[in-house]
Amino acid sequence: MDKFVVVIAETEQGQLTLPSLECVEEGRDVADQLGAQVHVMLCGNKVAPLAETLAAHGADRVTVVEHEALAQFSADGWMQALAPVLLQAPPALLLAPDSGQIRSWLPRLAVRWRSPLVGCCMRIGIIGDGYPEIMRSTHGGACQERLTWPYATLVCAMLIPGVRGIGTPQSGRIAETTVLRPQLDPAHFRDRTLHTLPADPRTVSLNEAERIVSGGFGTGGKDGMALVKQLADHLGAALGGTRVAADRGWLAVDRYIGSTGQIVAPKLYMAFGVSGADQHLSGITGSEIVIAINNDRTAPILKRADLGVVGDLHEILPILLSKLQALASTSNHSEPTTPTHFAVDPVEIAS
Ligand SMILES: Cc1cc2nc3c(=O)[nH]c(=O)nc-3n(C[C@H](O)[C@H](O)[C@H](O)COP(=O)(O)OP(=O)(O)OC[C@H]3O[C@@H](n4cnc5c(N)ncnc54)[C@H](O)[C@@H]3O)c2cc1C
Repeated sequence: MDKFVVVIAETEQGQLTLPSLECVEEGRDVADQLGAQVHVMLCGNKVAPLAETLAAHGADRVTVVEHEALAQFSADGWMQALAPVLLQAPPALLLAPDSGQIRSWLPRLAVRWRSPLVGCCMRIGIIGDGYPEIMRSTHGGACQERLTWPYATLVCAMLIPGVRGIGTPQSGRIAETTVLRPQLDPAHFRDRTLHTLPADPRTVSLNEAERIVSGGFGTGGKDGMALVKQLADHLGAALGGTRVAADRGWLAVDRYIGSTGQIVAPKLYMAFGVSGADQHLSGITGSEIVIAINNDRTAPILKRADLGVVGDLHEILPILLSKLQALASTSNHSEPTTPTHFAVDPVEIAS
C-alpha cells in the first residue's frame, strides 16, 4: 500500500500562505526519506487552481475540498470537510503550519486518531527504519527539544512559519488532483468568520512580519531604541532587536531575534547597531533583503547585508525620520510608506 505524508495547506485572500508551501517542501523531504508520496489537502471555495502551485513545491497528490461555506474559515467547517477524507486513510505523518486556524481544529482530529500532536516544530526528520524525529522550540524559544517515536506512530506536526523558508518552485511538475464537493451544512458550524482584520505591523508576531526594523546594543539605550521604533512605525514594520537589547530592558523579551529568540523571515530586515553575532544571524536566515547600519565596517552583519551603511545610527536615523515625515506630510494617502519611496544619501556603502 502507498505511504503518504499528508500536508494541510491554508489560503489567505485566495492565495496559498507561505507557511503552507514550507510544509509542502518539508513534507517532500520527509516523503523522499520514507519512500512515500506527498498528499496535500486544501479546503476553501474555488481554490482548485492552486493545486498547480502545490505540485511545483513538491505535492504528488492534491485533494481539494470545495464548498461555498468554506469561503471563510470555520474550525467546525474545516473539521466537517477534512475529517472524513483524513480518517479514511491515516497518513504516515501529517504536517501543517503552526497557525491559529490549524490549532483550532487539528487537535480534535489528533484526539480521534489518538496520535501525538506537536506544535512549534522547526525540523522533521526520519531516523532508523522510519522513526519520525522532530526538533521543536520550547520555553518561548529558549530551548530546543528532540522528539522521536517508535516506528509507524502517526505524528501530527505543526511547523513554525518562517524557519524553513521556501525554495524555487519546479514548473512543469504535476500532481494528481481530486476535487471533492461534500454536502456541508453551515448552520451546524458553531464558529464562523465575520470579517478579517488586517494585521497591525506593530503587534504582529515577528515570525509573520513582512518588515522588521531591529535595534541592538549600538542604539545606546531606550532613547536610541525609541528612534528605531519611530522608523518601524513609519515603515509599517514590526520592531525587533538583539538579545543584548532585550536583556537591558530596551525591548520586550518576546521581540528579540535569534537562536534563542524569534526566528523571522521578513521581506525586509533593517538592523541598527547590531553586530551580527551568529546567535542573532541564525534567526534571520530567511530574510529576503537585509539592510544594516553600523559604525564599524568590520561588523559581521555587513557581510550578511544586501545594503550596508557604515555610519553613526544617531546621525542616520534622524535624517531618515525627517525625510519620511516630509514625505508623509506631502502624501495624499495614509498608507504606510514603503522603503522604496525615499532616498537617503548613504554615509558610505560597505564594500
Ligand atoms: C547561548 C547564547 C545564546 C544567544 N542567543 C542570542 C539570540 O537569540 N539573539 C541575539 O541577538 N543574541 C543572542 N546571544 C547574544 C549574542 O552572542 C550577541 O552578544 C548579541 O547578539 C549582540 O547584540 P548586539 O549586536 O546588540 O550588541 P553588540 O555585539 O555589542 O553590537 C553592537 C553593534 O553596534 C554597533 N554600534 C555601536 N554604536 C553605533 C552607532 N552609534 N551607530 C551604528 N552602529 C553602532 C557596533 O559597531 C556593534 O557592531 C546569545 C548568546 C549566547 C551565549
